[in-house]
Amino acid sequence: MNIFEQMESNVRSYCRSFPDVFGKAKGSLLFAESGKSYIDFFAGAGALNYGHNNDFIKGKLIEYLESDGLSHGLDMHTSAKEAFLNKFSELILEPRNLSYKVQFCGPTGTNAVEAALKLARKVKGRSGIFSFMGAFHGMSLGSLSATSNLYHREAAAVDLSGVTFMPFPHGFMSTFDTIRYMEEVLTDDHSGIEKPAAIIFETIQAEGGLNEAPVAWMQGLRELCDRHDILLICDEIQVGCGRTGPFFSFERAGIVPDMVVLSKSISGYGLPMSIVLLKPELDVWKPAEHTGTFRGNQLAFIGATAALEYRELVHLEAEVNKKAEWVGQFLANEIAPISSEISIRGMGLLWGIDVSTSRHANISKEITSCCYELGLVIERVGRHDNVIKLMPPLTIPMEELQAGCAILKQAVQKC
Ligand code: PLP
Repeated sequence: MNIFEQMESNVRSYCRSFPDVFGKAKGSLLFAESGKSYIDFFAGAGALNYGHNNDFIKGKLIEYLESDGLSHGLDMHTSAKEAFLNKFSELILEPRNLSYKVQFCGPTGTNAVEAALKLARKVKGRSGIFSFMGAFHGMSLGSLSATSNLYHREAAAVDLSGVTFMPFPHGFMSTFDTIRYMEEVLTDDHSGIEKPAAIIFETIQAEGGLNEAPVAWMQGLRELCDRHDILLICDEIQVGCGRTGPFFSFERAGIVPDMVVLSKSISGYGLPMSIVLLKPELDVWKPAEHTGTFRGNQLAFIGATAALEYRELVHLEAEVNKKAEWVGQFLANEIAPISSEISIRGMGLLWGIDVSTSRHANISKEITSCCYELGLVIERVGRHDNVIKLMPPLTIPMEELQAGCAILKQAVQKC
């Protein structure tokens, strides 16, 4: 028995899919201690949009460390935070005419979700939240309440109340049907459901199986919230920071959410950081009403600022669009025809191969295991782990993207 099996809690998960011991990584490649290398289509669950050990970001981090820069600063004014706020405003908010304030929340995504839900309740003086079937918002009790996956919710062994799950437009429930259903719930005094403080949504339910929200639905959601005085919270933790092309994935709908939560790739280097963007009029917090020791990770600010600069420098959005076109065509022309039961969906550098099949339940596991043997790290998502999720670093060189997709094709053909 190795030290991990001996000492780490049984809750550990990814080690079961990727059993090597990993020491080094560069760009889109992972290197195991065994000497084997893997193409990475997992990107730290979306935390490594800029690749492993991105030289530009690493250079800025080393420079800061060597200057004896402050490493931890709670919510004090620091030069690292100042630089981040300036760059974020200049490169992200101003060009999009957005005037959000920024709340630094703590190390990980769920910290930002918790803060946003809590603020919504405080602003509106109501406790209910609407979330959607297929949603994933995190694992702490508040965000877990808004996560629909029963496997995750049952682990809490308590009734996670206060959240009502609405249908996500998918399959037989159209955009029109789902919005109308919510409208009826909100206007019918006998529905038994209180008006919520907020509606939280993902533009693509990544963990839920790559379910893409139609533009008209997101616009309908915005209008519904305006009509009923409800706050709209967009969870960009996995699909933001350029994953779908533009910095924010909600940009494609031309809407402005009241709050946006960001984490994962915001720090650029896999460093812990999460933020809530909130409309200025929502900033009703009194000092210290919401705190957290690790809401001031200076290295994360340095990485985040460098990542925003790097994005501009290499014209990352155009790069993503170019690669997205190639991946979309490859999946449609080379993978989909392998079986009539396969369906493909996605955008940017986030794609799903749905292998729900009548043949056998474990096919997605067989495919990802076969990929791993052939040198590709790739994971599964969806209610029944039925969707293979392609999420390489946005910086992946074209040859590695093509090599990874070739492995995937081989694995799908074999299984
Ligand atoms: N929201 C979304 C959409 C996510 O994908 C995740 C994590 O996968 C979270 C929230 C929670 O983030 P974390 O695991 O960093 O707490």
